[in-house]
Amino acid sequence: MKVYKFGGASVRDAAGIRNVGTIIQRETGNDLIVVVSAMGKTTNALEDIVVSYMAGRIDEAQLRWQNVVITHELIVAEFELPDTLLAPVRAIFSSIASKLATAPTTLTSYDAVYDEIVPMGELISTHILTAYLTHIGLPVRWADARQLVRTDDTFREGKVDWETTKSQIQAFVGDRIGLLVTQGFIGGTANGETTTLGREGSDYSAAIFGYSLGAESITIWKDVPGVLNADPRYFDETVLLPELTYQDATELAYYGATVIHPKTIKPLQNKGIPLYVKSFLKPDQPGTLVGAPTVTKPTPSFIFKVNQLLISLHPTDFSFIAEDNLSLIFGLFATAGVKINLMQNTALSFSVVVDSKPDRIPDLLEQLRGHFRVAYNEALELITIRHYDQSTIDRVLVGKKLLLEQKSRSTVQLVVREEAQCTA
Ligand code: ADP
Ligand code: ASP
Ligand code: MG
Repeated sequence: MKVYKFGGASVRDAAGIRNVGTIIQRETGNDLIVVVSAMGKTTNALEDIVVSYMAGRIDEAQLRWQNVVITHELIVAEFELPDTLLAPVRAIFSSIASKLATAPTTLTSYDAVYDEIVPMGELISTHILTAYLTHIGLPVRWADARQLVRTDDTFREGKVDWETTKSQIQAFVGDRIGLLVTQGFIGGTANGETTTLGREGSDYSAAIFGYSLGAESITIWKDVPGVLNADPRYFDETVLLPELTYQDATELAYYGATVIHPKTIKPLQNKGIPLYVKSFLKPDQPGTLVGAPTVTKPTPSFIFKVNQLLISLHPTDFSFIAEDNLSLIFGLFATAGVKINLMQNTALSFSVVVDSKPDRIPDLLEQLRGHFRVAYNEALELITIRHYDQSTIDRVLVGKKLLLEQKSRSTVQLVVREEAQCTA
């Protein structure tokens, strides 16, 4: 049994859905679980609807929802599918329209409403793909991930209950899996509420299904030839990494290579399930295998994180940066939900680099100022190089001012600012 995962880019229009159909058809007769994301940028559009709705801008929320409906209607119109196959999609269209007609109460939690509305992207896309596959003659079952992937009720970041998930998935698939289409990114609580697993979480869903069923492999189909040694959006000369160990892939993802969601790898590693990252545009090409025992000559890899903030904290009394100060600092970061991308301390200062998130940072700075003198630098880049040597460091530092550097044997992290922006 294999698991295929198709992300938003692969199903962003009718041509994309046809292409996905062709890739699935190649597995005809084999057991296959297909995990699918919302089409194109639907999740962003749904997030915008939640913002409007929760701010009480009901008309704006409804208009935005209408746009989502029209986008999907235009895509399905290209297939000329019978109305019976589209009934589940239309039912979602009207249920969300009704929900948005009534303003939220002041008691309604933002995150809970988010998890009621945003998962619709995956529910719609999987119903459309199922309708299309049925129409072209493939015997396909639609599975509701809300009833299979059990999470706690941490809305927007559901924590998976692995034992329940495994038994629910095994019970649902039974002896003969056949072809099954289900949603990435979503799960459900014991009380039947829908949850999401965190943005970009569909890769993780594929790993959850693969782990639960002991899949022979997982393939995540992307708009790139596989895992490259840098994001091609920011780097011209990239090379394909044909093989990675689980550890290499985990670290690349952890440092910010967005091609694989960081939570995807551990469950697969625990069961020794190979993960392939392949191009949905060139499905015959080998792509990248994650799960190689060793990689003899590792290629230097670059990970860029832009829009970084360097915060430096200095005790206001005569204390050093020691355990008591550190536990206070970590507590404040954890409460604010701000992830630390890099940290470094001296006797009298503690520096951290974080994503510059306008919804979380101002409050955090306020809290920190209650205990420390706080200085910060904005608009920085965090560059991580795995398997570095001096020439790779020199290459990325051209035109940049280095503010902070941290090295281990295999990885260097550089916090930099564009030279042009540096003040004297
Ligand atoms: P999905 O359609 O599954 O959501 P994503 O857009 O999340 O796919 O991931 C694919 C994108 O990841 C690529 O378009 C690319 O810009 C980006 N990316 C970042 N780092 C890398 C890397 N090291 N190798 C390949 N792609 C990368
Ligand atoms: N649709 C979700 C998102 O855009 C999940 C995913 O695509 O992985 O974040
Ligand atoms: Mg994605």
